[in-house]
Amino acid sequence: MKFLEVRSVFKSYGSIRALRGVSISVDKGEYLCILGPTGAGKTTLLKIIAGLIKPDRGRVLIEGFDVTDLPPELRSVSYMPQGYALFPHMSVWDNVSYGLRVRGLPLDRAEEALKMVGLYHRRFSRVYELSGGQQQRVALARAIAAEAKLLLLDEPLSALDALLNLELRHELRRLAKGLGLTVLHVTHNTEEALSIADRVVILRKGVVQQVGRPSEIYLKPANIFTASFLSEVNILEGLARVSGEKSVVDVRGLGKLVLEKPSTKASHVVVIYRPEDVLVSSNTPSYKVNVFKGEVRSIEFLGLFSRLRIQVNGLEIIADLWSGEDRGLKEDSRVYVYFDPRLALVYPYPREGLHVELYEGGG
Ligand code: ATP
Repeated sequence: MKFLEVRSVFKSYGSIRALRGVSISVDKGEYLCILGPTGAGKTTLLKIIAGLIKPDRGRVLIEGFDVTDLPPELRSVSYMPQGYALFPHMSVWDNVSYGLRVRGLPLDRAEEALKMVGLYHRRFSRVYELSGGQQQRVALARAIAAEAKLLLLDEPLSALDALLNLELRHELRRLAKGLGLTVLHVTHNTEEALSIADRVVILRKGVVQQVGRPSEIYLKPANIFTASFLSEVNILEGLARVSGEKSVVDVRGLGKLVLEKPSTKASHVVVIYRPEDVLVSSNTPSYKVNVFKGEVRSIEFLGLFSRLRIQVNGLEIIADLWSGEDRGLKEDSRVYVYFDPRLALVYPYPREGLHVELYEGGG
């Protein structure tokens, strides 16, 4: 039996179709991230599971029980909303321990949760005296302290600076695993989702696009939207012709690319290369196919690697080089660019057009 099951849930607000047949199932103790652009329906989905919104259609089951018609307080879920919903004039401690006191439970968990978010020393402060990021940590502590088996977190780390976000996401996962909690964590931050989740659900326009382990989602994106939402990628369009075990794609603006065993039989295709999969060198590479001459337009130093934008025929190609490998390259350097035939992600050209597929992600 699954710990949580969402079965074919639909929800509209007037003419806006926020959820269009969403089904997910979550194991006990699993850490699931729901990732998607703004307006994808993430908050609506969490609120339906929490019992704050009723779905138009579909069911929600927790531990095998149909809770669709139960009020929030009878579901044993703890929900941390995006806007925190703290009591501003109460102390940090009173906010975090509120749920436990109301139910007459011991307060140890409130102390533990406040220590986890690093705010135990501020327990006597009023909430309005804290910064936005600190308030977010108090809300997170309150959600954890509530002693519910299912934790629903809506953008729990979004107000934190980069370093604190990194620290807390690690802590959050550790704590959830230690307490055996099942967590649904909504975010639009790809890196956050991929680094913390056991599995990731990609949601777009109220429809689940893909569910999988972070590495599966990243390495084998199910569609163009998922591939381009996860990171900046090279998106090439062309006409494909199968030739034995290979396929030759005449890429608009670039030229002919030879690819291995494409997963689609479509003739009008979109070929995606991640920047880290494009090889750049100053010397002529020994490969027989897929080598193009280009000129570096810009180099962006990003710490571990540098991101190059290279003019290749009529296209701008993005390629990443490990820092240290870009020695000697500068703007206007002439280079060779190589596309490995095995590393292409190939999809049929979308019916509604590429622009709609890429940029109209919201509901
Ligand atoms: P964000 O990341 O911006 O919070 P989201 O993925 O959580 O977005 P939702 O808040 O669930 O998305 O909204 C999904 C769609 O439903 C959006 O188009 C939104 O404008 C709409 N919507 C949400 N709540 C309401 C409401 N109470 N009344 C009308 N429309 C709503």
